[in-house]
Amino acid sequence: MKDELDQQTGDLFARSGSAERQARLKARREAAGYRQTTIWLHGDSERIGYARGLVAAPLQQIPQEVVDVTSYTLGWLRGDQDRPASVSCASCRAEREKPVRAGDYYRALDGQPLQVWYCSEECAERFQW
Ligand SMILES: [Zn+2]
Repeated sequence: MKDELDQQTGDLFARSGSAERQARLKARREAAGYRQTTIWLHGDSERIGYARGLVAAPLQQIPQEVVDVTSYTLGWLRGDQDRPASVSCASCRAEREKPVRAGDYYRALDGQPLQVWYCSEECAERFQW
């Protein structure tokens, strides 16, 4: 317990701003159906998965040297999402010059589009009609 005369030490049991934010995040995530847990990941298996996801190698062809399939799969998903991908205009189909990060435009595993891209304001307006 803190000495009542101590003017130097702060309230060590008070929640910091960061702890408050974390508590609010946790409440939001739980309300959305998530649960928080801790898992152990095997670094080499995760790195192998990441490298394979990055080049869109088939997820289910797991290399012999993979020790942990969960680590491999999580690595593969990250690699797949970081993979450079092309995206074309939703209106005129012109391809974007620079590749995008696949995870920003396509859902993992089935490649369903997450958002559309227009090459110009005109295309965006034309597509509304
Ligand atoms: Zn266009």
